[in-house]
Amino acid sequence: MKIGIIGAGVAGLASAVRMASRGHEVHVYEANSYPGGKLSEFEMEGYRFDAGPSLFTMPHYVDELYRVAGEDPGSCFQYERLPVVCHYFWEDGTRLLAHGDEEAFAREVNEKLGVSPARLRQALSDSRRKYELTGRIFLEKSLHRLDTWLNSRVLRAMLAIPGLDLFTNMDAVNRRHLKHPKLVQLFNRFATYNGSNPYKAPGLLSIIPHFEHHIGAYFPRGGMYNITKSIHELAERKGVNFHFNTPVREIIVEGGRAEALRLDEGLEPFGRIISNMDVFFTYRRLLPKERHPERILRQQKSTSALIFYWGIRRQFQELGLHNIFFSDDYRAEFEHLEAGKAFDDPTVYINITQKYEPGDAPEGCENWFTMINVPYNSGQDWDEIIERARKQVLAKLSRILGVEIEPLIECEDILEPRTIESRTASHLGALYGTSSNSRMAAFMRHPNFSGRIRDLYFCGGSVHPGGGIPLALLSAKIVDEVMHSEG
Ligand SMILES: Cc1cc2nc3c(=O)[nH]c(=O)nc-3n(C[C@H](O)[C@H](O)[C@H](O)COP(=O)(O)OP(=O)(O)OC[C@H]3O[C@@H](n4cnc5c(N)ncnc54)[C@H](O)[C@@H]3O)c2cc1C
Repeated sequence: MKIGIIGAGVAGLASAVRMASRGHEVHVYEANSYPGGKLSEFEMEGYRFDAGPSLFTMPHYVDELYRVAGEDPGSCFQYERLPVVCHYFWEDGTRLLAHGDEEAFAREVNEKLGVSPARLRQALSDSRRKYELTGRIFLEKSLHRLDTWLNSRVLRAMLAIPGLDLFTNMDAVNRRHLKHPKLVQLFNRFATYNGSNPYKAPGLLSIIPHFEHHIGAYFPRGGMYNITKSIHELAERKGVNFHFNTPVREIIVEGGRAEALRLDEGLEPFGRIISNMDVFFTYRRLLPKERHPERILRQQKSTSALIFYWGIRRQFQELGLHNIFFSDDYRAEFEHLEAGKAFDDPTVYINITQKYEPGDAPEGCENWFTMINVPYNSGQDWDEIIERARKQVLAKLSRILGVEIEPLIECEDILEPRTIESRTASHLGALYGTSSNSRMAAFMRHPNFSGRIRDLYFCGGSVHPGGGIPLALLSAKIVDEVMHSEG
């Protein structure tokens, strides 16, 4: 069968590998000149930067693509587990290393914060328990098909609902388990992994620490972009046809069936179509004549980000690959994000791939991907926000590290909500599609297929099961399963 895929984001690439591995003729149309969408890279004055994602969890979902394609996973794509996941810094001088190994992490938390190792172990084991009960259902299956619900696992998860913390928020769960305000803040941060607010998101999201501390956080050799590069090359080896600089203008629907794509050169017919474009724009731009699922499209968006890519003329021993400089008032920070406003003391995240790939920066230098969370774009004065945030971020880092940072900046580039939207057609510049701030969020994401238009499927961070690389990869797996269970 001939299959058309709109977009070469990580989910579009994964779908292409899966479809081609089943013997289909696959064509991927990508508006940009490069693959990867948000997961791309660029170079600037001798520094290499991963443009978007920096944290890599659940690498087995990439390995699985190699197995599906009949190749050895380790042959082209390698990664290593991080012994220290993140370096945490607070304004009062507290510093803490989040070790990947649970026992080492428990010792550190005991030493630096005086929290008993048993308390940490209990929080992490609760995280594992919730994931084991629900992960397969909420993440790995379509929630929009009857066969998912007629399954004994679902019954078990349903019976466990009272203990899943669906009706409390993440902050309340973390306070219950961890007590210490700094440790609660550290665990609340996991809500940002899908652009949510820990003071609103359901406690079930406390499954995320299990990913990081049990399954592990990883660094892909060659940097995050190597995820894109490897899957793209794998797809090419499977015979996928890539068409770059080729935006899709419309999905042609005839008799209730998606049957062709309108390109600038004309119409191209397909047996099946998969959209990896943000679901909001898939409807608004490519399906203007069809009825739109308004309740789904109007869901609250996830947060966005403001990133300063800095070439830094110095190396910092106290920094690692991932570094967090916390704000003193985390609740107020999220209240601002929720209200669409910038916060004056934002939590700052710095990713330095040079720590693992020395060639990513010139000798004696570091490549800083410096990010703060900002609201999605609702027409704020971004030029003013960026200018102010830059000063605040520099002041905070200089204060905590005890070194003036601005004179060390050799080169700079900036990514912000408006450019995130224009470069990847992500509605309002949201990083993860819709937020997970409500209990029903998991059920309010668009399904991986259309209930109204036959032969039309959806993958990527804006549809089920949600944003982030692992979930985007899972969306491709679900599309494959749904399509092929239909025959
Ligand atoms: C700054 C930032 C930091 C992030 N950090 C992390 C992280 O640490 N860990 C993590 O797991 N995730 C992170 N994410 C989220 C992660 O990047 C995304 O969830 C994931 O990459 C989304 O992939 P996707 O397949 O949905 O496609 P996208 O990357 O959104 O790509 C969609 C593609 O479709 C193309 N397209 C759109 N419309 C058309 C059209 N009409 N015709 C042709 N092509 C079209 C676009 O050009 C684009 O290439 C981050 C994202 C950003 C921006």
